[in-house]
Formats: sequence, structure tokens, C-alpha cells
Amino acid sequence: MSIARNEQTGDITHGHELRALDEKTIRLTAYTCPYDLCNIKATPCSYRETNIKNSHFRYNDKHLIGCGIHDKKNNDHNNGDEGKNKNNSPPTPYISKLNLVVDNPANRKQNKNHNKDASQEDPRPRTASSSSIKPIIDYYENNIDIAKNQQLLIPTLGTKSYKEWFQNVINKENIKYVQPCIFHGKLFSRSNIFINKAGFIYLKFLTKHIQNAITLEIDTNNWKAGELSVFKKEFDIEKDKSTKYYNLKKQNNQPAEEYLYIYFLGHVKSDTVLTTNSFKLIYFAFKHATILPSSNVGYTIPVKSAQPVKSAQPVKSKLTTFLITMKSFLNL
Ligand SMILES: [Zn+2]
Repeated sequence: MSIARNEQTGDITHGHELRALDEKTIRLTAYTCPYDLCNIKATPCSYRETNIKNSHFRYNDKHLIGCGIHDKKNNDHNNGDEGKNKNNSPPTPYISKLNLVVDNPANRKQNKNHNKDASQEDPRPRTASSSSIKPIIDYYENNIDIAKNQQLLIPTLGTKSYKEWFQNVINKENIKYVQPCIFHGKLFSRSNIFINKAGFIYLKFLTKHIQNAITLEIDTNNWKAGELSVFKKEFDIEKDKSTKYYNLKKQNNQPAEEYLYIYFLGHVKSDTVLTTNSFKLIYFAFKHATILPSSNVGYTIPVKSAQPVKSAQPVKSKLTTFLITMKSFLNL
């Protein structure tokens, strides 16, 4: 895990993303430490197809005083057993915006100037944005208590707290997801990436009975070749870890405590199918079972009386429609 800020766009960039970019773009882009008081140069590494290691950022210089990396709370998780900080990479700062639209060069310049001015006038850290989901997940998982109530803007979908955006894919019968969310859930450990002729990948979430499993449909039709290969590679790395882990657990007759997780910004296609379409909005991780705080308004579970239990939303909107109809009927 390593991050840097793209000085042209202002976006926080995850090291993994580098391999999906072409070499020229990487060479022409300046990357720095995302903490305003630091801002030292970050060097993109292992971003060529031929590199065996994952692409990442390396910081050769010492981070300056005032950089987020010096905060005590950050040091704690940077010294974790994942060896997260071996590239001297800072922790992910608070991200307040997910940039869904790929910017054009004209906007880039404007963004840059705007950001520079803001930093001169205001010594507080700029709010950070990201064009991929990875830094958002990193930030949330490492700062749950603070982050759950912080706001995140996803253009066209709105601004909500981290807690409201996140939705665990829960293994419950008849569950119906009702709105776009940052979904996260366990996949079947035998999952595979197979792209069908129409350009779709289908993955199933872990359930006791596979026929009840929620499916994720990934539309890869607008992906670049580089993105597809990074996507497959990331999946393979995480799946490999999971296969080794499960084999070992089986041999020793121990229960599993780690799972193959997927995170994605997704929409609801039907009662049992969620859908997503951007390489940057999907993230795999083999890790300890975790449930991120979520407000659970993203689903309903119909009970025998056919009343939604979890969310009052559909009832409310039906009532509103009824009132509007009545009003117009009564000519009010
Ligand atoms: Zn720094």
C-alpha cells in the first residue's frame, strides 16, 4: 500500500493504479506526499508490465515535520505487520470527494492553480480527492471512529457520511439492495475472473447456498487493456493468498478468520444483481473478517407481512405519491 498526490489533478493516487497508466503519463506527472506541510517528491516504481512487484510509490527523502506520517496515531498502523510503510509512504488522508469523471488537461491546470492558492491562504490541510476507491477504503479502515461521520461527495450521487455510503453485502435470505453504495463483501474463495464474450465478469458473494448468492456484474467494455491486466493481477494476488490460507486451515482443521473481500462503488441492477463498470471503483483484499460501520439503509428485507423492515423509504415515497395524487384530485 502506498499513496501520493497527483500534482496536476490534486487526486490522491494509490500505487496499484500506476500500472494501469501508460509510461508517458507517469513520466509527465509530478507526484508528491499528500500532506501540505510536507509535499516531498514521490517516485513511481514497478509500473511496467514486466515488473514482478506491484506498482507503488517510494519516498526517498525524509518526510518533513508536520507531515501526517509523524502523527503518533498514524505511526501505529504504519508499523503494522503488513510492512505497510517499507516504502516510507504516508497514511491516506481524509478524502472528501470521489472524482468519477476523467478530467481533461484544461481542467487540470485550473485545479492545480486553485489548490495552490488555497494552500497559501489557508494553512489547514486541503481536503483531498481521489479518482479511485482504494484510498477511500484505506482511510476508512484506518480511521473508522473519525471517518464514519465525515462527509464524502460522489458527484451525481450526492454527499453522505462514510457510514452512509458503505454497505456490507449481507448473507440474508431475500435481502434487496435499494440504492447505489460502496459495497463490500466476502467472495467465494473459488471465485475466478472470467470475461464473457459480451465483456462482463460475474462474481458471487459468499453464502451458505450458492443459489441464493448475490451476484456482482462487472462491465469491462470501456476498460483499457492495461486496466484489465492490473485488475486480473490484483485479483490473482489476493486469491493466491486466500488459497494458501484455506489449504493450511483445512490441514490443521481450523476455522477461517480471513476472507477474500471485494469493495466497489455499485448500483442495483435487480433483486439479486449488483453492477459496477469502472476498474478504479473496484478493490480486492484478502483480509481478516471486518464489517465497516454502515447505516444499513441500503437494503430492505421483506417479512411475511410484506412490509419492508429496514428502510422506511419506499413507504414514504408511496405516501408522498398518494398525497400528491390526492392534492391534484382535490384541485389544491
Ligand atoms: Zn510527507
